[in-house]
Amino acid sequence: MAGIRFESVTKRFDDVVAVDDLTLDIADGELLVLLGPSGCGKSTALRLIAGLEAPDEGLVLIDGDVVNDIAAKDRDVAMVFQSYALYPHMTVRRNISFPLKPLGVDRRDRDQRAEIAAAQLGLSDLLDRKPGQLSGGQRQRVALARALVRDPRAFLMDEPLSNLDAKLRAETRAELVELQRRLRTTLVFVTHDQVEAMTMADRIAIMVEGSLQQVGTPDEIYDRPANLFVARFIGSPPMNTWTASVTRNGDRGLAVDGAAVAIAEPERLAGLEAEVVVGARPEDTSLAVDGIPAISTHVESLGHERLVTCEHDDGRRIVVRLEAHQPYPVTGETVHLALDPAAIALFDPSTGERLP
Ligand code: ATP
Repeated sequence: MAGIRFESVTKRFDDVVAVDDLTLDIADGELLVLLGPSGCGKSTALRLIAGLEAPDEGLVLIDGDVVNDIAAKDRDVAMVFQSYALYPHMTVRRNISFPLKPLGVDRRDRDQRAEIAAAQLGLSDLLDRKPGQLSGGQRQRVALARALVRDPRAFLMDEPLSNLDAKLRAETRAELVELQRRLRTTLVFVTHDQVEAMTMADRIAIMVEGSLQQVGTPDEIYDRPANLFVARFIGSPPMNTWTASVTRNGDRGLAVDGAAVAIAEPERLAGLEAEVVVGARPEDTSLAVDGIPAISTHVESLGHERLVTCEHDDGRRIVVRLEAHQPYPVTGETVHLALDPAAIALFDPSTGERLP
């Protein structure tokens, strides 16, 4: 088991800065998810830990030791790829025990350790099959068992569930978390899927264009996004945002499209410029008699809740989350939106950074 540290790490590919001055501590035994849109540098960050890429600047540490000059094979970390990378001509048993061969483990021990790893992943009955005779989910487990068999200091996983269908993906996700909790081996998991990140992570590190935006528990990131990018990336549907003017008639307040918007602690508005970006999650946005005017354009029923998409005059869209029993508008109806005054987030319109 090992903690992992990035210290001011930069990695460039020609003029692309894939990882930009990354400083991040991953605790021993932690399940950290690296999350971000395609091309944000998350795979490169993982490959830097594995030793498949070398930093241009900064240090990568495993267990307190700088590993910049340590070859991938000597880092004692196990990587699981999206493609599984199984050997088609070998049995499951051989595939799982394969990483032990270069370590000089004799055949009997290799088989025994493969059987233990297979048992942990429910593969005991499949040991003599070849990968071609397995389902996608079973192949994925073989790839995990192969990572497990070496008892590595850390697991590194790059979108390992993305080839599975939705149901199997959710099941495997839960099993993987359960396995990691049991073994308490550090796991760094790369995904672009925020639901995967929210449901699995001890902490999430969100990257965009090579730079770390925020690192925190799923709740911290959902409740207190550090900037507009994170606010709009996390949450399904994402946080609604509006440009609001800060009004100063008597008490300070907010107005969006001419409608007053109450905020629980108006002192938060002290010292702000004339404009601010106001954010509210779909569950903190409701339909009211009075409020920000909009037109209902689409109602989606999900059984336990409804998502009502509304459009403002200028075409901006926002979503209201209603419980199934609540009344909902028909398409084309004019509605008025109210925001929960205690749940309002404020962002700087020029930098996008969260305001207190
Ligand atoms: P995805 O989810 O699409 O895999 P990612 O967030 O994992 O994306 P990376 O694969 O780390 O992103 O890539 C970050 C940036 O670095 C991208 O602009 C990518 O094109 C570039 N890049 C990555 N590897 C190389 C390489 N070997 N040569 C040149 N450019 C690369």
